[in-house]
Amino acid sequence: MIDLLVATTNAGKFAEVSAFLAPLPIRILSLRDLDDPPAVLEDGATFEANALKKARSLADFSGLLTLADDSGLEVDALGGAPGIFSARYCGVEGDDQENNRKLLRELAGVARADRGARFVCALALCAPRARAMADWTVQASCNGLINFELSGTQGFGYDPLFFYPPFKKTFGEIDRVTKATVSHRGLALKKLVAALPKLVDLAG
Ligand code: IMP
Repeated sequence: MIDLLVATTNAGKFAEVSAFLAPLPIRILSLRDLDDPPAVLEDGATFEANALKKARSLADFSGLLTLADDSGLEVDALGGAPGIFSARYCGVEGDDQENNRKLLRELAGVARADRGARFVCALALCAPRARAMADWTVQASCNGLINFELSGTQGFGYDPLFFYPPFKKTFGEIDRVTKATVSHRGLALKKLVAALPKLVDLAG
């Protein structure tokens, strides 16, 4: 069985990746299984560049096949902002409440028809340099609208503001399993699961 390092400390993301990969003969490790992993500065210009930088750095550090992701929200009326800066839109890393407040402020006066947005997720898979495997990336997105107020308490980040028209609900109002069937991360993970057997010898 081969080992796969999932380069995240976020327990929610780790659980989601683990659930998608469960049918495959893979042992999944998290950064918590490593001694003193390096912090990787997410200074790339794209989601893909950031995911690739994280996966490459941690594959080199750990000697393990490594999966990393980068994700965020692109809002049409804001020219694609907050984009790669989604986690720190308000100036403080990971302050979901303030990020949502800022988003509502920036969209004040913007009509419903012009509040289109998408969540984007890039995944990168890198092997340690000794293994002859080309770096692999994939990107997926999920389209919706930014609501005028927060609704729902599930999920994280911008979920309570992200209205998904096919469900007529925000991502804050749907459970994690349902969200994963349509979300940017769920769709990207589905592509990973389909590609993995061709990328690595799962009999390892
Ligand atoms: P990162 O991928 O951990 O760098 O996170 C990027 C940021 O994008 C998060 O902190 C959230 O603000 C936002 N984000 C990414 N995916 C989601 C999602 O599924 N729901 C809500 N917010 C998200």
